[in-house]
Amino acid sequence: MGSKKRKISGDGFMLTGDAASMIDPFTGEGISNAMYCGMTAALVAGEALKQNRFDADFLQQYDEKIYKRLWDELKLSHTMQKLCKFPWLFNFVINKAEKNRTFRETISCMFDDVDLRAKFKKPSFYFKLLFNH
Ligand SMILES: Cc1cc2nc3c(=O)[nH]c(=O)nc-3n(C[C@H](O)[C@H](O)[C@H](O)COP(=O)(O)OP(=O)(O)OC[C@H]3O[C@@H](n4cnc5c(N)ncnc54)[C@H](O)[C@@H]3O)c2cc1C
Repeated sequence: MGSKKRKISGDGFMLTGDAASMIDPFTGEGISNAMYCGMTAALVAGEALKQNRFDADFLQQYDEKIYKRLWDELKLSHTMQKLCKFPWLFNFVINKAEKNRTFRETISCMFDDVDLRAKFKKPSFYFKLLFNH
């Protein structure tokens, strides 16, 4: 799971997808991140071949490119994963969703929309839920 930053390249290698721990900790999705890793690794490998540089220092740019693009989303999902450790809170949200169609649809959209998902982190989100039926 992509719950912490790891070193994903070194002398003569770059790790991609699951091997680089790029699985979303909340949704369990890893296909798109694996594809992005593959594309980025190919671009960096192309440069490495041109410059005949395969050392860790040169390949470090791969880590930087990957984390620049994916880290914010992985970090948010890790926060969401930790929220699931409070069953009472999770049950409260799901029970509300069961009763309210609009809220149910909002939660569904949160799986695709990272900005919307960020609302889960805000106490105001739960506060509003308390008073909405
Ligand atoms: C049950 C399940 C459901 C999932 N559902 C989703 C989903 O709905 N959406 C989503 O985005 N993600 C999902 N994932 C996660 C997703 O499948 C992975 O994150 C993604 O496939 C990772 O791609 P990858 O290329 O890193 O690894 P993989 O797809 O695992 O590819 C690695 C390949 O390397 C091969 N291999 C291994 N060892 C060797 C070797 N020594 N020599 C040669 N080849 C080797 C393997 O056979 C495999 O084909 C799911 C995962 C599981 C297990």
